[in-house]
Amino acid sequence: MIDLRSDTVTKPNAAMRHAIANAEVGDDVYQEDPTVNRLESRAAEIFGKEAGLFVPTGTMGNTIGIKVHTRHGEEVICEARSHVLNYELAMMGWFAGCLARTVSVESGIVTWDKIQPEIRALSPHWAPTGLVCIENTHNMAGGTVTPVEAVNAICDGAHERGLPVHMDGARVFNAAAHLGTSVREITAKVDTVMFCLSKGLGAPVGSMLVGTAETMERARLYRKRLGGGMRQAGVLASAGLIALEEMPKRLGEDHANAQAIARGMAAIPGVVIDPAMVHTNIVICDVAATGVAAGELSARLKQRGVLANAVSPTRIRFVTHMDVSRAECETAVAASAEALGVTAGGRV
Ligand SMILES: *Cc1c(COP(=O)(O)O)cnc(C)c1O
Repeated sequence: MIDLRSDTVTKPNAAMRHAIANAEVGDDVYQEDPTVNRLESRAAEIFGKEAGLFVPTGTMGNTIGIKVHTRHGEEVICEARSHVLNYELAMMGWFAGCLARTVSVESGIVTWDKIQPEIRALSPHWAPTGLVCIENTHNMAGGTVTPVEAVNAICDGAHERGLPVHMDGARVFNAAAHLGTSVREITAKVDTVMFCLSKGLGAPVGSMLVGTAETMERARLYRKRLGGGMRQAGVLASAGLIALEEMPKRLGEDHANAQAIARGMAAIPGVVIDPAMVHTNIVICDVAATGVAAGELSARLKQRGVLANAVSPTRIRFVTHMDVSRAECETAVAASAEALGVTAGGRV
């Protein structure tokens, strides 16, 4: 099977498995796991922040990131299709007691002029804004990248009004690869960043939260409350260290493969995808004009050995990663053409 459902499906490579077998461990709830401690300090260093916290999932990292900055009854400004709102089981409401105040931006690239009008002060009529959340890259907008200047403008505007900024940077290393800059540059002004080790970076499990030492100290307590106080977690952190140090440099390959899929899909009659808007490793194609529902296309692809998720009734998503080759991406495009009743020579 050629698995293009997500970059979460990546499996730990030989170096990670070797590191896991040999990891030095201790009880991380006592902060005595040397490998977890090393991962946390390296993550902080790479992002130019004071401290880091290893968490089991990105969802827990975002949940804690939102909680540490807000109080019950506040609003969190985020993009309408953001992960924190749509794919985290309403944790900002359930755990932090906050409501989402959405802004809609088709490209997923949110700018300060969209956020500024949604900021609310304390009043007898409305809930005050507690936090601004930015998703970079933006998953459901097709892995689009918010540039450094736009992130900085949001941070400057929010900070001027006393508001913190959290970045859902699940794939922020992909953003850095696209921009040809460092994650440190992209996140210099944000207060906290969550990023995933377990997606394009290929670790089996784990995400990180980074920020100030004081914020991470409080975040550690919320991690324990949520059941994320893992004991000899060094076995996981050892793979995480390899993901962090070695894997960002190969993400360009995934982006080139995504371009190949985008260009191939764009050539299929009825498929709408603008390769110029495919910044990273996510390709979301609109197939409405083919007359085939995205779910049906997904089923037909599966019969042809290709896995891809329908993300709406009319849109199908392909995500490239280290466990799919260029040739497999080309096979996926050919299978899509066949599944939609098109051959290289035109419609069947
Ligand atoms: C995957 C993802 C997360 C976290 O997901 P987990 O499965 O909980 O690790 C958060 N934000 C975005 C944008 C994601 O794509």
